[in-house]
Amino acid sequence: MSVTVVGSLNEDVLVAVPRLPGRGETVIGTGVEVAPGGKGANQAAAAGRLGRGVHMVGRVGDDPAGSRQLAALAGAGVNVGRVLVTPGTPTGSATIPVEEGTGENLIVVVSGANAELAPADVDVDSVRRASVLLVQLEVSLETVAAAARTTSGTVVLNPAPARPLPADLLAEVDVLVPNEHELALLAGAADGERPPAELAGLARAVGAGSVVVTLGARGALVVPADGPVLLQAPPTVTAVDTTGAGDCFCGALAQALARGEGLADAVRYAVTAAALSTTGPGARGALPDDDAVRALLPQVPHAVPVD
Ligand code: ADP
Repeated sequence: MSVTVVGSLNEDVLVAVPRLPGRGETVIGTGVEVAPGGKGANQAAAAGRLGRGVHMVGRVGDDPAGSRQLAALAGAGVNVGRVLVTPGTPTGSATIPVEEGTGENLIVVVSGANAELAPADVDVDSVRRASVLLVQLEVSLETVAAAARTTSGTVVLNPAPARPLPADLLAEVDVLVPNEHELALLAGAADGERPPAELAGLARAVGAGSVVVTLGARGALVVPADGPVLLQAPPTVTAVDTTGAGDCFCGALAQALARGEGLADAVRYAVTAAALSTTGPGARGALPDDDAVRALLPQVPHAVPVD
């Protein structure tokens, strides 16, 4: 029973600014905070908090940011033995000025070592033998596709950041986990909110196995490869920061699937973990452990069929 995440590791640099700068302008920031991030590493950290047997495969640079990232992941219980250190390349980073009051931001991502993660790097036992392989799109598509082909486990793909995907990669995916925006892009439809039945139609058109569409505070829609479409409501929580809720959802879903839960039960577990993750600041500030999720689970309704 194991979850292997193949994906990105970034250092996030969050800068508080009174207002976002325009082109060529200097704005004096009022504070700076450095936090470990990257969709791959965030999802691994979420899965690691919830259970054992989580492995991360990726690349960092030979720099202090890389060391901080590895220490943070190890602290979340993630095995980092297959995170390769890449000399002469910086650890990936995201620099994010955040406007005080409005919370609006700008994001500059430098892929750094993430861009060096190659198909040969994923030809390892932890990918081959994973119960669940969890991948996103912050490393090269060739590497994602190689990992999906290599594993004998269940392939879970969170298609973020959104981009069109080749049919042969989608055919390798057992569970696709897009948000509404990512689903619309993959289905070639216009962006915008849709009723569940319409979302299910788009999900079926994408060409992956099962699809789980995350719907923010509305929970998640389960569109199984066969069987009825289900809408899973989340528990009510006081959300203070939804950054990384999608990453926590994916990590929790992978962990529950690796334990052998069916898709509907795994999604109920994931909405519960993701809701708890919104009750504290930052992407990893409030990642719940398994006890916390199980304590809340009895209050979470079961998913209902969508007609
Ligand atoms: P992303 O951040 O990737 O766009 P979503 O906004 O859909 O993803 O959120 C992912 C999941 O996090 C949702 O499916 C839901 O389970 C949970 N979630 C997000 N916002 C809230 C909220 N305000 N209350 C409860 N759960 C939430």
